[in-house]
Amino acid sequence: MNLTHLTKSLTLALTLSYSINTLALPSESRVPGGIAIIELDKVTSTQAPEATLNGQRVMVTQESGKWLAIVGIPLKAKIDEALTVKAAGKSYSFNISDNDYPEQRLTGIPSKYVEPDPKQVARWREESKVQNTAYKTWSEPNAPVLELAMPAQGPYSSAFGLKRFFNDQPRAPHSGLDIAAPDKSPIKVAAAGKVTAVGEYFFNGNTVIVDHGHGLSTMYCHMSRIDVKVGDQLELGEQIGLVGKTGRVTGPHLHWGVSLNNTRVDPLLFVKAQ
Ligand SMILES: [Zn+2]
Repeated sequence: MNLTHLTKSLTLALTLSYSINTLALPSESRVPGGIAIIELDKVTSTQAPEATLNGQRVMVTQESGKWLAIVGIPLKAKIDEALTVKAAGKSYSFNISDNDYPEQRLTGIPSKYVEPDPKQVARWREESKVQNTAYKTWSEPNAPVLELAMPAQGPYSSAFGLKRFFNDQPRAPHSGLDIAAPDKSPIKVAAAGKVTAVGEYFFNGNTVIVDHGHGLSTMYCHMSRIDVKVGDQLELGEQIGLVGKTGRVTGPHLHWGVSLNNTRVDPLLFVKAQ
């Protein structure tokens, strides 16, 4: 190989590695339920700094020698209040803009899922604690996972963030993506990880939560069958169960949730090939 060829090959290799790195980051969207990518430019350490938002650890990754915080923005964040990431004793404030998520009105929901009795409310509270504990998991088994694969095949039946009305009553916004995959079709985990919660929950039905490290978890709900248990280590694409219609649903689908720094964000921001 002569020098010209070598230079060309090196240039190509550098260009490819740069574009691969760039493509690997989640899509940035500074809106409630979105993701902010904050350059921690006041950090001089060669070690990844610990960064937090509202006291919750946030994912930090490195690209082209820069430390970046990958921050989930709460759906209830107010657009007129700046958010502040803290890292290595420094603060980074940023603003978000409005995202006017559309309304969704669903009718024909069994009344127990719209106006649960006190016993059902108590059950839901206990289940929420288990799920929140799973979401708060902080582990560093590997480098941060920056990209997720679709866990099921089917049209998207409800987008993330929809302002929801069940039988005309306002309820919490939609905190995941609904994929209308056929009943009993396979659900495949969106990245390698460890199962942190498995349960039969009041609203979410049969559910699995998987921790991918660095504050990133994925959640799979309404399953007809669960094939994994808490503590299982999963490879990307391993089957974790089957699509179903358990819990508060109007038909079979997979509700797929993605949580970053204990904040539910739009799953599609982590999906590259759609
Ligand atoms: Zn859903």
